[in-house]
Amino acid sequence: MSKPLFEKIALVGIGLIGSSLARVISRERLGGHIAITTRSAETLKRAEDLKLGDDYTAEAKEAVRGAGLVIVSVPVGASGAVVEEIAPVLKKGAILTDVGSTKASVIAQMQRFVPEGVHFIPGHPLTGTEMSGPDAGFAELFENRWCILTPLEGTDPAALEKLCQFWRRCGSSIDTMDPQHHDMTLAIVSHLPHIIAYNIVGMADDLEAVTKCEIVKYSASGFRDFTRLAGSDPTMWPDVCLHNREAILEMLARFSEDLASLQRAIRWGEGDKLFDLFTRTRAIRRSMGQEPGIQPSSGALTAVQGPTRLP
Ligand code: NAP
Repeated sequence: MSKPLFEKIALVGIGLIGSSLARVISRERLGGHIAITTRSAETLKRAEDLKLGDDYTAEAKEAVRGAGLVIVSVPVGASGAVVEEIAPVLKKGAILTDVGSTKASVIAQMQRFVPEGVHFIPGHPLTGTEMSGPDAGFAELFENRWCILTPLEGTDPAALEKLCQFWRRCGSSIDTMDPQHHDMTLAIVSHLPHIIAYNIVGMADDLEAVTKCEIVKYSASGFRDFTRLAGSDPTMWPDVCLHNREAILEMLARFSEDLASLQRAIRWGEGDKLFDLFTRTRAIRRSMGQEPGIQPSSGALTAVQGPTRLP
């Protein structure tokens, strides 16, 4: 049997993403030993019942001690506190990474606690579902998806290559970019669509109450597409919105301007303008193909378009 990529991997947080990692790490034998830690006794017990790892502890320090790879899979707003707690026992030479949906904010929170000699390489697998918790995970979650890494200045190339190898063995393709570029890209392809969906579905619900029309009951497929996004985790999304505030606000301002221009075109009967835009957007849709995930052509729109959703 081939040697595992890491002798010990510690998973801090064992929800949808952490438990999917645990499953693929076991299946692919990426770690000789999987240590699991999470803050609640209930989730920890569930992880143990599901046999996701080799040892389970509520003490994050115990889990990460001696680990060659530590993956933090907690809400982005909690990532700093987690690293502050585990930092004193991180092994020299270990790789510390995360899976958070925003990058600049996570780096700002985590970096200052990372001890000398530990390779901190932030990451974000572009995959997900509407579900959360250890029962929701599955080993195939990362297959044929992008994983974006945002290495910091001076990152050790060997550590970066080892982390790339890890994600490739999970089935993902890797892209590297700077954190600001990541946050701006995700704001437009993922965060804004969710905000718009939350808004439109909430608006329909309000309108239903006022007009007593059965808007939701008779909703057509377009509206239903929005409800899928609007059904996403109500705990995670405020966390993501607040931690990518700058990029989201910038994109929302741009969105409002473009929407106003569309509104004007409709008001003044400018069918040609509408036709030109709708033709351009149809071409983008058609270039994406049927299957979500990694597309043959590269570029921001195709690279990060989603599976079920991309927080
Ligand atoms: P999840 O299923 O809700 O699991 C969250 C995990 O974090 C649980 O182990 C939970 O512990 C722990 N946790 C929650 N609040 C915490 C806090 N304040 N301090 C410490 N630990 C805390 O979440 P997830 O979907 O796996 O998301 C984890 C990370 O992945 C997030 O940063 C998210 O942005 C990112 N991400 C998510 C998706 C997605 O589709 N869900 C996709 C890509 C990236 P207990 O259960 O023990 O409380």
